[in-house]
Amino acid sequence: MDLIYSSTRNAKEKVTASQAILKGLADDGGLFVPDRIPSLDVTIDELADMNYQETAYAVMKQFLTDFTEEELKDCIQKAYDSKFDTKEIAPLVESDGAYYLELFHGPTIAFKDMALSILPHLLITAARKNQVKNDIVILTATSGDTGKAALAGFADVKGTKIIVFYPKNGVSPIQEKQMVTQKGDNTYVVGIHGNFDQAQTGVKKMFQDKELAAQMDAAGFQFSSANSINIGRLVPQIAYYVYAYAKLYKKGEIAKDEKINVVVPTGNFGNILAAFYAKNMGLPIAKLICASNENKVLFDFFRTGTYDKNREFMLTSSPSMDILISSNLERLIYRIAGNDAAKNKELMTALTSDGAYAITEEMKEQLADFYGNYTSEAETAKVICDLYDKTGYVIDTHTAVAAGVYKKYKEETKDTETKTVIASTASPFKFTRSVMDAIDKEKYDSMTDFELVDELSRIGHVAVPKAIEEIRTAKVLHDTVCEVAEMPEVVKKFLAI
Ligand SMILES: *Cc1c(COP(=O)(O)O)cnc(C)c1O
Repeated sequence: MDLIYSSTRNAKEKVTASQAILKGLADDGGLFVPDRIPSLDVTIDELADMNYQETAYAVMKQFLTDFTEEELKDCIQKAYDSKFDTKEIAPLVESDGAYYLELFHGPTIAFKDMALSILPHLLITAARKNQVKNDIVILTATSGDTGKAALAGFADVKGTKIIVFYPKNGVSPIQEKQMVTQKGDNTYVVGIHGNFDQAQTGVKKMFQDKELAAQMDAAGFQFSSANSINIGRLVPQIAYYVYAYAKLYKKGEIAKDEKINVVVPTGNFGNILAAFYAKNMGLPIAKLICASNENKVLFDFFRTGTYDKNREFMLTSSPSMDILISSNLERLIYRIAGNDAAKNKELMTALTSDGAYAITEEMKEQLADFYGNYTSEAETAKVICDLYDKTGYVIDTHTAVAAGVYKKYKEETKDTETKTVIASTASPFKFTRSVMDAIDKEKYDSMTDFELVDELSRIGHVAVPKAIEEIRTAKVLHDTVCEVAEMPEVVKKFLAI
C-alpha cells in the first residue's frame, strides 16, 4: 500500500512520495511527513551482506512507495557511483573507542553529497511519473556549501538546469572558487551585490512570481528547490545509519539486536532526524545524541522544552551548524504532538511571530531517546588536537563538535559501554585552516591554504581529495555578477525566455 505524505501544518494536504519530492514544501508552508514510519522488511543477516546501493534500496523503497523498483534502483546507481572516492560510499573508521561514519567521500567532500547526489534523479523521475513535461529549473541561494553540493549533484543531469546565487563578498575564497569552476552545460552561478538573506529573499520572490511561472511554463520550464526540507533529501540519509549498523554487525563488533548510540553534529536537524526515522524503522538505536556548537538552541530545547531563537548569532569554526532555526525539527515536533497538524502549526506560528515556543510536559516526555549537548570553540579545537595526538586520525570541526558532545555524554550518563557511531560530516580538507590551527596554531599560522592542505595530507597520511586538487588548477567558468533587483532578468537570460 502506498505511503501517503501530509503537511505538518494541514492534515488535509495529502500527496504521494513523488509529489512531495516535486513540491518540496507544502502549500501552507508545512513539511511533508509520511502517515506512518514503515518498518525494515529485511533481516540484519541480509543487510550484513548488502553493499551501499543495495542497502539504500532496501531503506528507500519503504518510503518512496510510488517509485517502481526499476526507477528507484536506477536513481541509486546513478547517484552512488565513482563520484565517490571509495566503493564503500560511507566507510566506518574506528578511533579512540568510537566509530566514525565518514559521510564525506562524495564530490564536495561533505555529507550533503549523500543526499544531493541522488535528489536530481529522484526529482526527474518524480516529474516523469506525474506527467510533468517541463524541464526542472533548480533555484538556490547559498552561503557556500549547499550551492556547490547542489551544483555537483545536478551537473549534466538531463531535464534539469540549476542556477545558484551567492553573495559576491560573503563566501570564502575556496567556496567561491569551487562554485565558479563548476562544469556542466546546465549549471549557472551568479554572484550578487548583497548578502545571503537578500539572495534568499530574491529566490523566494521568484518562486512566488506567478507571471514568471507562466512565462517559464510557456517556454517549457518550471522551478523546483533542492532545499534540505525536501523528503527527497531526508530519505536517502536514513540509509547510511542502517548501513553502518549492518557493517558493525558483520564485523562482529555488535551482537544481533544490540543497541548502538548515534551522535550527530546538528544544524538544520535533517541528519539526526534521519537517524530517528531509522530507529523508528526498527534499527536498534539507543540514544540519539544531538551535538550543537555555540549556537546551542537545540541543547537548550532538549533541556528546557523551550525553543528560543532570540539570541546572539555566533560565527564558529563549524559554519554549517551556525543556525538558529532548525527547520527539520518541525517534523519531530509534529510527531511528539501526536501527529497533530493544528497543534504543530500553533507552535510554528509562535516561532515566526515571537521567535520562540514551549512544548508541553507530555511532549517533552517523548524526547527521552534524545540527548543534547554542545561543544565550545575551545573544546572543539582541543578534541581535534587530542584525537590526533592519541591516534593520528584527523577529523574536521563539525565532527569534532560531535566527538566533544559524545565525551560529555559519557561523563554525564556513565554510559561508556554502548557502541557508538559518530556521523563524520566533512573531510578535514574542507576546513583545513581551522583543523591545522587546532593541531598546532603556532607552527601552521604562517602557511598558505594550499600549503596547509599538503601538510594535512602528510601528517594525517591521507591523500588530498580530488575536490581540493581540482580547484588548484580549475578554470573559472562562471563570471556573472548582478544586483539583487536584476535576479529575475538574469534567470530569464539564462533560459532564453
Ligand atoms: C549541513 C551540515 C551539518 C548539519 O546537518 P543538518 O542536517 O543540517 O543538521 C553538519 N556538518 C556539515 C559539514 C554540514 O555540511
